[in-house]
Amino acid sequence: MAAGSGLRGSFPLTIESIDKEVKYVAPGVFGLGVLGDDGRFQMLFIGRSDTDVRRVLKSYVGKANRFKFEVYDDPQRAFLKECELFHFMKPKANKVHPQRGAGMECVCPQCGAF
Ligand SMILES: [Zn+2]
Repeated sequence: MAAGSGLRGSFPLTIESIDKEVKYVAPGVFGLGVLGDDGRFQMLFIGRSDTDVRRVLKSYVGKANRFKFEVYDDPQRAFLKECELFHFMKPKANKVHPQRGAGMECVCPQCGAF
């Protein structure tokens, strides 16, 4: 795994922990995963919310052990970060390229897809 996703964490994927760490209702990117035998976070899945990453993270409680995240002012920046993670981290559970949100004009800087 490449060093450093640029996301905050990892933190336990629990309602209490999400409320504590994700302080704003904002667009964002997150990674879900587990701690490996070496104690390092292994990213298994990435996702994004264009409106409220905290709410979406809560919907995944029970499906993984740990999460990382970052919040953004602009959902397009969250989308671009999600693309970066998709291409560089290659999470096992992400089978398809991240999708652009409504009204976004940007394309993926890595592959040119949207
Ligand atoms: Zn791409």
